[in-house]
Amino acid sequence: MRQTTIPVRFLPVFVALTASLLAVPARTTHAQSAQLTSPEQFFGFQLGADRQIARWDKIVEYYQLLERQSPRLKVVNLGPSTQDNPFLLVFISSPANLARLEELRQINAKISDPRGVSEAEIERLVADGKAVVIQSMSLHATEIGGTQMAPELAWDLVSRNDAEAQRILDNVIFLEIPCFNPDGQIMVTDWYKKTLGTEYEGVNYPSLYHLYVGHDNNRDAFQTNMVESQYMAKIMFREWIPQAYVDHHHMGSYGARIYVPPYAEPIRPAADPLVWREMSWYGAHIAYKEEEEGLSGVINAAIYSGWGHFGFHWITPFHNIAGMLTESASARLATPIFIHPDQLRGGARGLPEYEAQTTFPDPWPGGWWHLRDIVERQKVSAWAVLDIAARNRETVLRNAYLKAKRQTERGAAGSPSAFVIPASQHDVLTAVTLVNKLMVQGIEVRQAKREFVQNGVVYGAGSYVVSMAQPKMGVIRWLLGRTFYPDNSYTRTGDSTPIRPYDMSGDVMAEFMGVRVDPVDGNVGAELATVTAPITPAGTVRKGDAGYILDGRLNASFQAVNLLLDRGIAVRRADTTVEGGIRAGDFFVPAGPESALVNIARQTGVDFAPFSGHADRPMHAVKRLRVGMYQRYYGGNIDEGWTRWTLEQFGFPYTTLVDADIKAGRLASKYDVIILPADAPSRITGIRGGSGGGRFGGRPEDYPPEYRSGIGRDGVAALKAFVDEGGTLLTFGEAGTLPIDEFELPIRNVVANLPPKEFWCPGSTLKVTFDNTNPLAYGMPEEGLAVFLAGSQAYEIAPTDRNERVQTLVTFKDRDLLQSGWLLGEQVIAKKATMASVEMGKGRVVLIGFRAQHRAQTHGTFKLVFNALLGR
Ligand SMILES: [Zn+2]
Repeated sequence: MRQTTIPVRFLPVFVALTASLLAVPARTTHAQSAQLTSPEQFFGFQLGADRQIARWDKIVEYYQLLERQSPRLKVVNLGPSTQDNPFLLVFISSPANLARLEELRQINAKISDPRGVSEAEIERLVADGKAVVIQSMSLHATEIGGTQMAPELAWDLVSRNDAEAQRILDNVIFLEIPCFNPDGQIMVTDWYKKTLGTEYEGVNYPSLYHLYVGHDNNRDAFQTNMVESQYMAKIMFREWIPQAYVDHHHMGSYGARIYVPPYAEPIRPAADPLVWREMSWYGAHIAYKEEEEGLSGVINAAIYSGWGHFGFHWITPFHNIAGMLTESASARLATPIFIHPDQLRGGARGLPEYEAQTTFPDPWPGGWWHLRDIVERQKVSAWAVLDIAARNRETVLRNAYLKAKRQTERGAAGSPSAFVIPASQHDVLTAVTLVNKLMVQGIEVRQAKREFVQNGVVYGAGSYVVSMAQPKMGVIRWLLGRTFYPDNSYTRTGDSTPIRPYDMSGDVMAEFMGVRVDPVDGNVGAELATVTAPITPAGTVRKGDAGYILDGRLNASFQAVNLLLDRGIAVRRADTTVEGGIRAGDFFVPAGPESALVNIARQTGVDFAPFSGHADRPMHAVKRLRVGMYQRYYGGNIDEGWTRWTLEQFGFPYTTLVDADIKAGRLASKYDVIILPADAPSRITGIRGGSGGGRFGGRPEDYPPEYRSGIGRDGVAALKAFVDEGGTLLTFGEAGTLPIDEFELPIRNVVANLPPKEFWCPGSTLKVTFDNTNPLAYGMPEEGLAVFLAGSQAYEIAPTDRNERVQTLVTFKDRDLLQSGWLLGEQVIAKKATMASVEMGKGRVVLIGFRAQHRAQTHGTFKLVFNALLGR
């Protein structure tokens, strides 16, 4: 127990409380030490109070204060967030445990990967180890409850001295992430304060609540593009592999008050079954504790299916972690919302009616709903997970061992036994990026020292081998293996209409990235060395008689080209393929300062290979184009944010265009290319009549007038004039409907408005061919994959007297289109184009009907975007 100096006037109370602890659960008995500052004292209000939000900078200060005041808490700043705010990890445990944190981490690491550890040693580790629990808050920044709850949870743990709290401190290492998205927390808090007391009070943030990715930060767990994701992956997938992880969210306002684990159907297979039982076990204890507290409206085993996207709480079961979420009904940020009883509704998975049922025995009756209600329910759920882990420390640890051991054995016995990433690839550097991303997940990757033959295929030296005989075989299976979303009565309604998966129907990273990965069987008979650190290839620089050549198949070559153009170094591009020499799309650099080229080669990994041919072959000068991209309000457009991020990674300059910029017209004098990211045309124009709304968007009239956006009819006319005068309008996905309809292009989207039973493709990888003789598809292979989502487009060309004005760049194969995911009605799109360029006036419209840069994950098709941004 913690030693504190207790002021004399508090002593009788303290003694009395201590005496009563054995009989009464002492939930509210905090040691009233003068040395511990409560959240209420520090913030000046109870966290969760109406119309109050504690801002992240103050919360950080509070944790630093608690760290100085309590030996039970240790604060680690994992580094700066995207916009340079501290990203905190807070360890909470007994002082004795915190003093041997590294030793306990190593014990946990052995239990989580017991390969080569004896059973006897495991027994000793289980006896000696502590249960590890991670809980993260407010990943989605408008879901503010978690971050407001976290300091109070920490305070309870450092200030309570009852047996229940002490048991948690002694048996659990709690890693609290008080805010998963510090930048967004600050944006939303400041926004809320701005709207407070106005008629717009409580409306959601009008832009992306993360500089680049907004709500999609939970779609980034397997590719970890954002630094926040990288911090979490380091903690959760490599350094500490917790036994339980809970991510606290909010949901809509009109159903259950809080969803707690486990998930509903369907679940994604290939995790150890124990992990699903654990989620039911934790969830039952959470629900039980909520009922014990008399908190109504708690539901479990409903709404959220176990097959979701590979966000943090959904990927963790395959890391052998009980990965769970809670979802609380939203208020209007910190403003309470009144809900009439007859507004409450079911209609969700596992909750068909808003009526009492086994998993929902106490429906909330309606009335005022406050942020404080959310904070209380979340805090009970967070505490319950710590409580049950503490009461069952040895069981939890032994099961962590069992999951890891059994998954390793399953991987060794199953098919495939391994995945091979061949050294020979269309884009070798993107294959290296894939390997690095696998290692971020804590997956063991080995590399062949020499050429080897496996299942009759010759693999070159340097090929990578990812064995399934390792604890994370479930993650490997879904990131590298072909995936089919279930199509059965779990995923169809009574009249067999398909039910939309929560997000994508697969997350096959290798397919998204266009990297060849072969499943193999049997023992891989190669001499292998474990890859121990991220691979950072340094490109070489060797000059030929004519200059240097850069491989146009590499995404990284575009980054190199941008760096060259930044320095004013001339770049040319080949327009024909010469057998045994250059390919159409390769970049040619006649000359440049050696030191600059060496730096660029090192930074990008791209080889500057010697070129000794005739430089007078068909080539064109590469010109940097002036790129503008449209940005709107109504919660922001996540595809726009991801596109911005992708362009920045590869060094493409761009200008963000808002309504006024577009409406002002004369666009062709300022821009060569204008990008409309994937979006509903009604959202772009602001002209009502299309779909829209929803919790993350809202209606125009919900927002202050200066946050209502839309280019209007003037903007549409300005975009048309831009194309007529020579500009390139580049559209992604559903944004293509705007020029198709408004400019009357001779193109029809054949999947528009089709009922789901006729055509259905919710986030799948489909087989396509690329016309890589067209500059827009330079550097692409002849065949590959495209990621097609609901809202993506497939094109039919209407007969005109100038059909040559339409060029098709990406076309679906004639049959068996589905590589991974879920596809109904493939005959609708077979042989149709999904990327087309349409000449109009002096310019053109380039329609990319699918997600070529989806979430910065689809590296396999990035070049289709990049090519459109490099001119001649
Ligand atoms: Zn959320």
